[in-house]
Amino acid sequence: MSHIALALHGGAGTIARHLLTPEAEQNYRQALHDALLTGYELLRQGASALDAVEQTVVQLEDCPLFNAGRGAVFTHEGHHEMDASIMAGHTRQAGAVTGVRAIQNPIQAARLVMEKSEHVLLAWPGAEEFARQQGLAMQPPAYFFTEHRYEQLQDALASGRVQLDHSEKHPLQEPLPFTEDPKKKMGTVGAVALDQHGHLAAATSTGGMTNKRFSRVGDSPIIGAGTWADDRTCAISCTGHGEYFIRAVVAHDVACLMEYRGLSLAEACRVVVHDKLAPIGGEGGLVAVDAAGNIALPFNSEGMYRASISSASPLFVGIYKEEQ
Ligand code: ASP
Repeated sequence: MSHIALALHGGAGTIARHLLTPEAEQNYRQALHDALLTGYELLRQGASALDAVEQTVVQLEDCPLFNAGRGAVFTHEGHHEMDASIMAGHTRQAGAVTGVRAIQNPIQAARLVMEKSEHVLLAWPGAEEFARQQGLAMQPPAYFFTEHRYEQLQDALASGRVQLDHSEKHPLQEPLPFTEDPKKKMGTVGAVALDQHGHLAAATSTGGMTNKRFSRVGDSPIIGAGTWADDRTCAISCTGHGEYFIRAVVAHDVACLMEYRGLSLAEACRVVVHDKLAPIGGEGGLVAVDAAGNIALPFNSEGMYRASISSASPLFVGIYKEEQ
């Protein structure tokens, strides 16, 4: 059997050991572990990388611990506006949705945009209308209501800040050190995979930033910024402060360094996350897999919820920096 590999993330941020209760930590680890095995089992059975990343992300969207789907954060007006994107490395086809409020699993909508429309990115009510026509499950606002997200919004409204899910006092204009509130450390979800046929795929889904206004769009639905897949190089899914990831075109830049400069996956990821993104103030990380099944999980934040497995490497679940 040729190599297969799967990696996922559940957001990056200040995630220090003393901030999570043992029980909360165990819940995160279990959720990451279970989603990873869902996707990996599909790959083992011969499923496409595209199906594996989609199903992995669906499972994370359904889990209220993460800022995507069910656990999405609140906008300034008290709604949820979710973003998602998916890309197939084989064909370089891609699909994305932004600002959707009622779609139960935005990643499924992104895939339908890719396969059933002639477009790449659909937005707001139009994206929902398309998803409805395609028969996707819709949910009322109550489905997406989670108490701690609501508290986050109240904090953000009181302080007038737009904030990353995993960094409370982190205004858009002026990145500051992350604060130590464990409720703020969960984020965007994403997955990358290599299948038995040698194809790569990537998928990313998020609720964006708490207290965001004016139809703000982050990196997660932007192909090349938050998501990228190309069989010739790698598949990438990002998490972090989206504005910086857009400016640094993070996901595509990793692939470019591999393609044009011949860097390894690990080296390309290191250059982008530490040498290019960090100096402009971009905090976060990504999960990556290359065409040979190598995996990289770099981040420049305190921690990143992450997990990986391949036919050549054992199952790994990590939260903190020192875990390798
Ligand atoms: N990248 C996402 C955004 O800016 C947030 C995150 O990864 O937590 O919308």
